[in-house]
Amino acid sequence: MTMTYDQDVNRAGEIARLVLPQMTRLGIPVTPVNYALWYEYHLGRSPELVAELEAIDAGTVAYDEEQAHRLYLRYVATPGVERLEQIETEVCRLLADIVQIVADAGLDITRYGALLKSCTSRLDDAEDIRDIRKVVDTLARDTRAMADSSDSVANMLKAHALEIDELRAELDQVRREAVRDPLTGLANRRAFDERLAESLDQTLLAVKSICLLMVDIDHFKDINDRHGHQIGDKVLQYVAALLKRNIKGRDLVARFGGDEFSVILENAAPGGVRAVAESIRKAMDESTLRRTDTGESLGRVTVSIGYECARPGDEATALLERADKALYRAKQGGRNRVAGCDEGG
Ligand code: GH3
Ligand code: MG
Repeated sequence: MTMTYDQDVNRAGEIARLVLPQMTRLGIPVTPVNYALWYEYHLGRSPELVAELEAIDAGTVAYDEEQAHRLYLRYVATPGVERLEQIETEVCRLLADIVQIVADAGLDITRYGALLKSCTSRLDDAEDIRDIRKVVDTLARDTRAMADSSDSVANMLKAHALEIDELRAELDQVRREAVRDPLTGLANRRAFDERLAESLDQTLLAVKSICLLMVDIDHFKDINDRHGHQIGDKVLQYVAALLKRNIKGRDLVARFGGDEFSVILENAAPGGVRAVAESIRKAMDESTLRRTDTGESLGRVTVSIGYECARPGDEATALLERADKALYRAKQGGRNRVAGCDEGG
């Protein structure tokens, strides 16, 4: 079990003093999975996990091993992070190996040696996957150059260069996973934030329209309550697929969080944004969802959609706030409807 917790020891102790009495009070066994969940809860990094555990703490949702496992997989055990740590360790080992090979061969390593040193310290400072990827890239390039320049150690270094290539491919894979929501396969919130910031930047440069749809499932809590979380998850997957079918090209669909999705539409024609939102709403309204196990209908599952387009110089937060307001208006208006930010009412 690997997690990224860079909190200092005091903080970890403080949290432990909160977690343990709470778990005891709730009668939850202190297993590693349970502990990790409540620890993460007190760190408060995921508002969704906090909301889920608060419901458990309040006694409105039952807590059992299955539920714990689901929450653990979703919020704590990010496979990307685990692999990233392994990769970092691998890169460190490779670096040490290469330094040894070069030193043993008594080569002139002034430049290469300096490079290896700088790679090691850059790795220490690496904050995210992109930093690591840059180190690995430099390492790959220079190790290859070194291998070409010296016969005696060429083969050993070439083998290492191959290993570095494999690491590179793995980093790319981890990177892809780091921007995906594991349940729906859509872009996650992080990818959405990055892309929105990027798109807004470009609006300043070029004449390009950027619009947002905020899509939220109506009364989703009732579906969970009536049919259980697993069916709830299937509904989320269904909505994700429906959204994907309804957008094209560079437009991005992301899971914004919980039962809320966001869509970035670029260069939509005037009036086109509302039309896209309306066709999504309609497609959802016309869907008939059934449980595959019992055949029971889930009833009418609908979505409310708020939309808004960027204004010149808009910041992501301002745009999101307005789009959110529009969504709120769609909910207030009776749900299963589309609303724009500036519409009256
Ligand atoms: P509204 O029409 O106002 O949107 O009502 P709602 O019930 O959809 O709104 P609310 O935000 O209260 O409920 C969202 C629920 O989504 C609460 C939370 O337990 C649930 N949820 C969040 N993430 C997941 C998930 O990954 N899977 C499942 N099954 N449920 C989730
Ligand atoms: Mg909802």
